[in-house]
Amino acid sequence: MSTLEIRDLHVSVETKEGPKPILRGVDLTIGSGEIHAIMGPNGSGKSTLAYSLAGHPKYEVTSGTVTLDGEDVLAMTVDERARAGLFLAMQYPVEVPGVSVSNFLRTAKTAIDGEPPALRTWVKDVKSAMANLRMDSTFAERSVNEGFSGGEKKRHEILQLELLKPRFAVLDETDSGLDVDALRIVSEGVNRAHEATDLGVLLITHYTRILRYIKPDFVHVFVDGRVAEEGGPELAERLENEGYDRFLPAGTVA
Ligand code: ADP
Ligand code: MG
Ligand code: MG
Repeated sequence: MSTLEIRDLHVSVETKEGPKPILRGVDLTIGSGEIHAIMGPNGSGKSTLAYSLAGHPKYEVTSGTVTLDGEDVLAMTVDERARAGLFLAMQYPVEVPGVSVSNFLRTAKTAIDGEPPALRTWVKDVKSAMANLRMDSTFAERSVNEGFSGGEKKRHEILQLELLKPRFAVLDETDSGLDVDALRIVSEGVNRAHEATDLGVLLITHYTRILRYIKPDFVHVFVDGRVAEEGGPELAERLENEGYDRFLPAGTVA
């Protein structure tokens, strides 16, 4: 049993006009095997939370703590975070020309485990994970993210999730730009990882659509850089019906 704990987190983003405070005291505790949905209107700071956990240099933590089983995540480099068992989907969004998906996955696996995976089982694992995600085997030979469609990027994310076996995954807008079939396949991948390895999931989403496929244990509504309301799955249903209006000042639009 592991715990990812975010305490009173304050984060500013670097802008041309100077640092701009975005997160204003976020508190969240995620245990192994728990699925937490973070929902909220556009601009409420959801992605800022994800980037802060990923250690993106543009996001400055001004106060608060993030710990994984008591270890200070904020003091870790991006690589150390991955080795500690944190999977941050936006960690590798860049194109890596000349590096194939297959090589990339093996390198990442080796870095995280501290030793190369046993070749025969690894090749089998990659093949079956790709088949589960309905990915053509030629995908493994393509350069990472080069010319990937939105759906291919998301599948590649989930492929990493299934193969790297992290303890906690932060998935930001994994549902965006997916048609219903791709959404279902990607969601099944998250659910498989959750079942197989007791993965803890922080699922960040504006829309409730993905929550039909990935059932959250807890729902947190994010407004203006902090958690404004918390509940169980019924809160997501309520948001589906009512939207975010009641959380916003009169006259504004989510
Ligand atoms: P969400 O993911 O909930 O839509 P974001 O975390 O992307 O929200 O953004 C929260 C707020 O921070 C917004 O007002 C956004 O304009 C601002 N912001 C985020 N990143 C930057 C940035 N790199 N430069 C300037 N403003 C930013
Ligand atoms: Mg569960
Ligand atoms: Mg966002």
